[in-house]
Amino acid sequence: MTSLSFREVWEAKKRISLFVQPTPILYSDPLSEHTGARVHLKLEHTHPTGSFKLRGAANKILSLDEKDLKKGVTTFSTGNHGISVAYVAAELGIPCTVCISDRVPKAKVNRLKKLQASVEIVGSSQDEAEARCAELERDNGMTVIKPFDDREIIAGQGTIALEIMEQCPEVDEVIIPLSGGGLLSGIAFVMKSIEPSIRVTGVTMKKGAVMQESLAKGKPVILEESDTLADSLLGGIGTENRYTFSMTKAYMDEGVLVEEAQIEEGLLFTLEHHKMVVEGAAATGVGHALHSNDLQGKNVVVVMSGNNIDHDAITDLLAKS
Ligand SMILES: *Cc1c(COP(=O)(O)O)cnc(C)c1O
Repeated sequence: MTSLSFREVWEAKKRISLFVQPTPILYSDPLSEHTGARVHLKLEHTHPTGSFKLRGAANKILSLDEKDLKKGVTTFSTGNHGISVAYVAAELGIPCTVCISDRVPKAKVNRLKKLQASVEIVGSSQDEAEARCAELERDNGMTVIKPFDDREIIAGQGTIALEIMEQCPEVDEVIIPLSGGGLLSGIAFVMKSIEPSIRVTGVTMKKGAVMQESLAKGKPVILEESDTLADSLLGGIGTENRYTFSMTKAYMDEGVLVEEAQIEEGLLFTLEHHKMVVEGAAATGVGHALHSNDLQGKNVVVVMSGNNIDHDAITDLLAKS
């Protein structure tokens, strides 16, 4: 499997400390009441980039040498990773090109442009955007910053778990939105290293759950993307996946597929009871918790992974509710 070490996560914490503030953890009275558990929300949507992806991106970029930094960075992304890479590049004053598919919501595109990144819209899947990045690396010497399947990225996301273990040491179960698996691999690696009995649950929207389908098939598969409120969970895991497939397989106790209606419910619940706006991917964990019968009496942490949602999507949801 991987030889990711605890030390690498500690190195990540040191490296990103100037860029990334620790995020709060919030005890949720309403969700606890609803589930019979003690539920804590880890507020990873409160980063300046609106998502946890800042951690991995900062760790990866800050690990590059001077020469590679000068040539700049490029990435393909459904949005949040691109935003975080662009943010770090802007802070460091280095060139950044983000290649994205035409499925990415316009709020995310506008935000990238505001961060001074050059944005290239290529095709309608993450795979096409990825091919363009490889070209930029080959022809212009830019470094491709991968969204999840990279040890510095995984170690960066793992720093979330160092905070959780300090903020909620009694944690029994952690619920983590799952797409490429960088977030889950990093968090689960750290938590299971400290306390192997902690249960790790990965949550994904039902349509296009690539990692979950890949685990079922025993190897990375490719699925067609379809529209979902949890758009940040779209995208493949790469047929040549090196780390996150085996780490997710090793560390995830249960993978849950969440119905679109439950994701909506999770989003509205968070809005109504906590006055917090999160995006569909982040609401997937809350949506699952609201319907789970397995949480009673447990100390549960739900990772609220991001908040980059189009105003239109919120307006539509509120109109429907
Ligand atoms: C990227 C992302 C995820 C999933 O992270 P992976 O490392 O790809 O599994 C979850 N939520 C949000 C908001 C994201 O941007």
